[in-house]
Amino acid sequence: MKMEVYLDNSATTQVDGKIIKLMNKYFSENYGNPSSLHDFGRRAKESLDKSREIIAKKINTNKDEIIFTSGGSESNNLALNILKEGDHLITTKIEHPSIFETAKNLERKGIKVTYLNVNKEGFVDLDELKKSINKNTKLVSIIHGNNEIGVIQDLEAIGKICKNILFHTDAVQSFCKINIDVNKFNLSLASFSSHKIHGPKGVGALYVKKGLELNKMILGGHQEMNKRGGTENVPGIVGFGEAIKLIKENDIKRIGELRDFLIKELLKIPRTRLNGSKNKRLCNNINISFELIEGEGLMLHLDMKGVKVSTGSACSSQTLEPSHVLIAIGLPHEIAHGSIRFSLSKNTTKKELLYTIKKVKEVAKLLRKISPLKDDTK
Ligand SMILES: *Cc1c(COP(=O)(O)O)cnc(C)c1O
Repeated sequence: MKMEVYLDNSATTQVDGKIIKLMNKYFSENYGNPSSLHDFGRRAKESLDKSREIIAKKINTNKDEIIFTSGGSESNNLALNILKEGDHLITTKIEHPSIFETAKNLERKGIKVTYLNVNKEGFVDLDELKKSINKNTKLVSIIHGNNEIGVIQDLEAIGKICKNILFHTDAVQSFCKINIDVNKFNLSLASFSSHKIHGPKGVGALYVKKGLELNKMILGGHQEMNKRGGTENVPGIVGFGEAIKLIKENDIKRIGELRDFLIKELLKIPRTRLNGSKNKRLCNNINISFELIEGEGLMLHLDMKGVKVSTGSACSSQTLEPSHVLIAIGLPHEIAHGSIRFSLSKNTTKKELLYTIKKVKEVAKLLRKISPLKDDTK
């Protein structure tokens, strides 16, 4: 029997039914503009501030340091655009495209950028970071939990190195999965997104340390403490807050156990390897390379059998370029091409994983039989 199994939760997640119900009220009843001074407006503003408070509490800060954006990408753009000509930025070779491409764009505007290497598990070398800092270094931006290979960087150690330098992290994948404490990590900026944690799409947040001035990107209003113009997405922001409230410690633990089970079973398939770190890994991320197989073929065959996975990140899966993250951890192109990401959520069941394991084994066997790739070990 064919099952539908969604294992692409790092791309996006299903919105929780409770959240949809709550959001609906903000379209039809509490539809005021938070900038309006009448009762409707004040009520909308109170709802925004409740969500702000929920996010702030989660990262151990105050609500006047949280601004709402259209998502993780905008938050990342806003954070990096704090830099001006002559400034130096340090980032890594394993960032999400919304950091990577913003950094490339900054280079064209006269900002110097250093892209740190990572080791074969995906960790940044702290000595290389220390050595890269110079008198013009204004910002260090390092992803917390990687969206492709799940590796979790030691932000506490990195924060200690970033004394007198602004420190930003893309915490979109790690938010609500790992504890984030902006004080302990010495962060000045941090990006979050709602739709990776069962909230609606098109909503995100940026933590901005008190006193820090942004280079405003959307002009036209004094919303969000004059850091981001435009009427706030009230239903979305309310949904984002509710999504955080619905996260349970128990779910995180259970997802991690399912992850370990799936890793163990998939690695029983000959000539496979796990990418990223075994221990410091997002609870829902699995990235496996299958030798002698094209990842695109494996993904499409699995899709026909109802199993939805991804090759590399959703953005790079449109192109034929191998993932820059897999290249950065030293995989040869042909192995990088044969890599698949399975990402779990609280909705994932053991039954779905048993079905997935069976289908991956079938498809891998079939594709290897007809593979044009040479097995040079025989
Ligand atoms: C999804 C993702 C983003 C982008 O967030 P959007 O809300 O989709 O714009 C940024 N960084 C990481 C690590 C992500 O996984």
